[in-house]
Amino acid sequence: MRNVQLTEFDLEIYEREIRPLLPEQVFDAHCHLLINQFHPRLAETLPLALDPLLNEVDLPWLEAWWRALFPGIEVSGMLMGFPTLDVDMAGENGMVARSANEKGWPFALLVRPEMPAVDLERDIQSLNPSVLKPAQASITDMLPEEQIALADKYGLAVMLHVSKPRGMADAENLDDITRLIRDYPHCQFILAHCGRCFIPPNMDDALKRLPAAENLWLDTSAVCDIGVFLSLFSRYDRSRILFGTDLVTAAAFRGSYVRLGMSWHVCTDAMVARAGGMAAKSTFAAYESLCALCYAVRFLGLSEAERWDLFFQNAAQLYRAGAALPRGEALPS
Ligand SMILES: [Zn+2]
Repeated sequence: MRNVQLTEFDLEIYEREIRPLLPEQVFDAHCHLLINQFHPRLAETLPLALDPLLNEVDLPWLEAWWRALFPGIEVSGMLMGFPTLDVDMAGENGMVARSANEKGWPFALLVRPEMPAVDLERDIQSLNPSVLKPAQASITDMLPEEQIALADKYGLAVMLHVSKPRGMADAENLDDITRLIRDYPHCQFILAHCGRCFIPPNMDDALKRLPAAENLWLDTSAVCDIGVFLSLFSRYDRSRILFGTDLVTAAAFRGSYVRLGMSWHVCTDAMVARAGGMAAKSTFAAYESLCALCYAVRFLGLSEAERWDLFFQNAAQLYRAGAALPRGEALPS
């Protein structure tokens, strides 16, 4: 029987830095289920998942993590499978769809670029996802335009984990997104991890040219840098920012995502303990991200209403407005 254990130290961080800023209800716009049998080479493709607390993530296990990390708060979310290179997509998508439908929550379908549009359309009709989540590459390499056109036809969102070393600060990515939001107005584009800007110089450069649009959103998942959030919240449309955790596998380890020069890295407790020899007093990466986010929220003086929007309402609006049409009903094109 697995149990999520928080130390006094974890709880202290939560109570002091996070809890005072959270509403009673939170929507996690970026979280993953991961069932080992659908990832035959997991040890190779996602070493973090070797930790027994971070694999076999079915919905009850994700909820166990939410209950532990957000005591007393009601959490729901948009569920996705985990896009490792070896994932059995049909298997994991089916499991995610069943779990989300049980709750009436939105979920994402993992898609590969080589998937024929006719197969994807069949899956959209039979599984009824709200989001398409392409495997990781340029935006249109990872999600061919015929797949984007389907998302547009059905009013779905697509969640983009943009490639290239500087994420959304890359000029080609900015050109792509500027064109796509215009050409596919019924498709909601979500840029995961603040457009994969984990460090302030990338967020700053992205914000110089990132268009604000009804159908363009960013999620906060896995970003652990206060500067990124300070820039984003002071310079972008706050009604288009979604809170997400990236739980379980990619955010429930003890450690953080840290900046080293112009790059960023997973840094686990074990790496630091090995280097320092001292018992590391680390907390969960999900808490590191929340501490940075809450610091920026406090520093910029976001009102209670703005915090409600960030942690719940923006996502509710997204999934009501764009991506949660009645089953099988396509938007008029
Ligand atoms: Zn993720």
